[in-house]
Amino acid sequence: MKLDDLYQEVILDHYKNPRCHGCLAGPSASCSLFNPLCGDQIQLTVKISKGSVGEIGFAGHGCSISQASASMMAEICQGKGVKEIEALTAQFRSVMRGEMAPEEAEKLGDAVALEGVRKFSARVKCAMLAWEALEKCLADARLAGEALQS
Ligand code: ZN
Repeated sequence: MKLDDLYQEVILDHYKNPRCHGCLAGPSASCSLFNPLCGDQIQLTVKISKGSVGEIGFAGHGCSISQASASMMAEICQGKGVKEIEALTAQFRSVMRGEMAPEEAEKLGDAVALEGVRKFSARVKCAMLAWEALEKCLADARLAGEALQS
């Protein structure tokens, strides 16, 4: 099986069987983002305590890349410290911009399967949407003082 085909299967699997699907009740932060270029929508809810993201839940609709990316992001980032998540987000963005080889970003787990997207600049926004929503949630939580204690 070629790597491209394998990646395609990983993306489809996340799209059809999304992890962490469904919004959380009583989240620490939530955020809804829309990508007008493609019509993708992501609603993200997170529970944060003691400097870590304990739980992530998302809902949304749109193309397979946007929804699969949200599922991958949630799976990778759930249970991690805020600082680690910021580093992962920066890595994912670098891969999407072609500034980092996907082989160097092994901590990104299944999200590496999206590396082919960088060849299609219009779709990069689809892949980034969930990560941007998470950044927004973390920024809001920081303002509220919830992510500061560790
Ligand atoms: Zn899209």
